Amino acid sequence: MLIDRAYAPVETLGPGTRIAVWTVGCSKRCEGCANPELWRNDPAKDIDDARLSEALIGMARQAGIQRITFTGGDPFEQPESLVRVLAAIRPHFKDILVYTGYTLDNLRAFADGSKRELQGMPHAAVPCDTPIHAPYDSEPLRTPCAHEPSRTSSDRERLSALYERESCCTPCEHESRDEPGANGRQQSDRIEDARVRAAVKEALDCVDALIDGPYVESLNDGACPLRGSSNQIVHVFSESLQGDYDVALKQPRRIQNVHFGDTFMSIGIHGRPTTTQPA
Ligand code: SF4
Repeated sequence: MLIDRAYAPVETLGPGTRIAVWTVGCSKRCEGCANPELWRNDPAKDIDDARLSEALIGMARQAGIQRITFTGGDPFEQPESLVRVLAAIRPHFKDILVYTGYTLDNLRAFADGSKRELQGMPHAAVPCDTPIHAPYDSEPLRTPCAHEPSRTSSDRERLSALYERESCCTPCEHESRDEPGANGRQQSDRIEDARVRAAVKEALDCVDALIDGPYVESLNDGACPLRGSSNQIVHVFSESLQGDYDVALKQPRRIQNVHFGDTFMSIGIHGRPTTTQPA
């Protein structure tokens, strides 16, 4: 999985004391995103899923923490890695919260096959040709046509392979071509797509709470301590945790400033820049 860092204790990204994991890679490019440095899929940030899971379980044991938050970046841009990590750590945590720029409806529709792709944000997006765009950059997950380069099961390699081709449209511009082996590729792509859809579904099944939707700066009213803008929804799937989230949602926003490695980190849901400037 591509991650930038994991840190504990964190008390501003969900109820109680938590571990927080910042994943790398997000194609939505919301204007005002707090972590634009995490947009680019940086292969140097790759860590083996099993190793990451062990490290998180070790952190939890050592710190006596049973709650964890995945933010980013967008963890759902790496669904296969995400589900591997979530499934491995699930028995060790009572509260798993994931932030995503996709809406829950979109994730579910993609998972059940009624939608062909995971849509990025429909509005307020910074264009994708901003300077941060790089050769290893990602794009929204979607069902590709059968003529794209063959892909591997790894999210990282898959995104890389997708980037190598120029574009692929629906209906596919190549469909009339008589390409040897096209049927075989179609079949393997269908298997691949089914795997990605299954990963999204299984990842959703692993989480206790999901905070969904893109960040829309004009809708950042500073009111909610767990979400950045009012279009985002806090979904609590585990009934036993509803009370904890209800309490957390009534708290004011809080920022936790910590020293991490050779830098300082400001953890939490921030206000709009114009409202946080000193008078
Ligand atoms: S979805 Fe989240 S990480 Fe991605 S650009 Fe929007 S605010 Fe940033």
